[in-house]
Amino acid sequence: MNDCIFCKIINNEMPAQKIYENDKVLAFLDIHPCNYGHTLVVPKNHYKDLLDTPKEIVAELMSAVQKIAPAVVKGSNAQGFNLGLNNGSAAGQIIFHAHFHIIPRFAGDGLIQWGHKEYAEGGMEKIKNEIIKHLR
Ligand code: AMP
Ligand code: ZN
Repeated sequence: MNDCIFCKIINNEMPAQKIYENDKVLAFLDIHPCNYGHTLVVPKNHYKDLLDTPKEIVAELMSAVQKIAPAVVKGSNAQGFNLGLNNGSAAGQIIFHAHFHIIPRFAGDGLIQWGHKEYAEGGMEKIKNEIIKHLR
């Protein structure tokens, strides 16, 4: 896609600190890291988000994540990592070229984790049924 930053990185039209690539996948450092070593794993073809990405490519991405994440952890002296994907602008997606975030984590690093809510009486079953209704 012409105006996509990640496509430009893939096509070497924009610089990036590349970590790994194969014929389907590229991984490079996030320019504004949550922690140093924060890595993005992207398909080489343009898909706008996870749901737009073919299953075989999702499998390639996950396989690359399994390869890269231990190196991110070791290379950044971290103790763990979060794997994230923001799907849709409401979820914080800014770049509409599918990508996973590998975020190295350190004990007590102060990154905000997801908050949790409480269900009202019956609310859990109600939304469970709504979700199941939409499974295809
Ligand atoms: P998201 O909010 O999931 O769409 O994440 C987009 C990520 O891309 C953000 O964490 C940005 O810091 C990162 N980003 C944006 N431009 C670049 C770039 N030129 N090189 C590397 N990472 C970038
Ligand atoms: Zn793109």
